[in-house]
Amino acid sequence: MRLARGRIKIIVFPSPLILAVLLFCAAILLWLQFFPAVRPASIYYGYPLKGTRILIDPGHGGIDPGAHYEGSITEKEIVLVVGLELRRLLQQAGAEVMMTRETDEDVSRHIPGDPASRYQRDMGGRVKLINESGADLYVSLHINYFHDPSIRGAIVFYNSSRPENKLLAESIQKNINPVVAVNPRPDQYIHQESKVGDYLILNRATIPGVIVEMGFITNPDERELLCQDSYRQKLAQALLIGITEYIYSRKGP
Ligand SMILES: [Zn+2]
Repeated sequence: MRLARGRIKIIVFPSPLILAVLLFCAAILLWLQFFPAVRPASIYYGYPLKGTRILIDPGHGGIDPGAHYEGSITEKEIVLVVGLELRRLLQQAGAEVMMTRETDEDVSRHIPGDPASRYQRDMGGRVKLINESGADLYVSLHINYFHDPSIRGAIVFYNSSRPENKLLAESIQKNINPVVAVNPRPDQYIHQESKVGDYLILNRATIPGVIVEMGFITNPDERELLCQDSYRQKLAQALLIGITEYIYSRKGP
């Protein structure tokens, strides 16, 4: 209500126009609720990662299942699905994306004729692909395990010799934490801190990058989540936003 030249003018809210806008917004929110796959499109316009090259390294594969639960739920399968979804999201944002593997295979063939063990050739193959990729950064995807089933959560490991590694690790950790901290129980401990890691890939890589342990297959709650497509998609979205925030923190506003 406001006074205009001595007369009282009454404005009634909501006007039909505002009501229409509110209804439109409610419809959009409902749409996003039922079609979560379109959510990432709402966080940016255009191609924010155009000109960026990213290498995704889904761990293990082929003969090597990685961490597993009773042989049927395997790390190699979970990280490949998340990796492929992350590639889709990154490409949608304009990035050029490479992968160390796109199917259920290991990477040892990239080091032919080496007398080292298959595991060492697999690790060597990943380092080779990372260092010859010409990428701006890499993310190596893994699932953790521990003898204590109450331990869960995500840990992003980095090598402290290069400041970019820590920045990327913290950016991904910050974005993945709200995803992994779903339905916490008082008798569980949820990892939510990035850490310095002493791993061959981190030590030998010549470009910035991190190892993301996205959860514990040994925790029943987290194992159930890691089997769900919607949860895997949330992990990929968190990785996308973490990578994007890191790249923009490097570029500046
Ligand atoms: Zn692993």
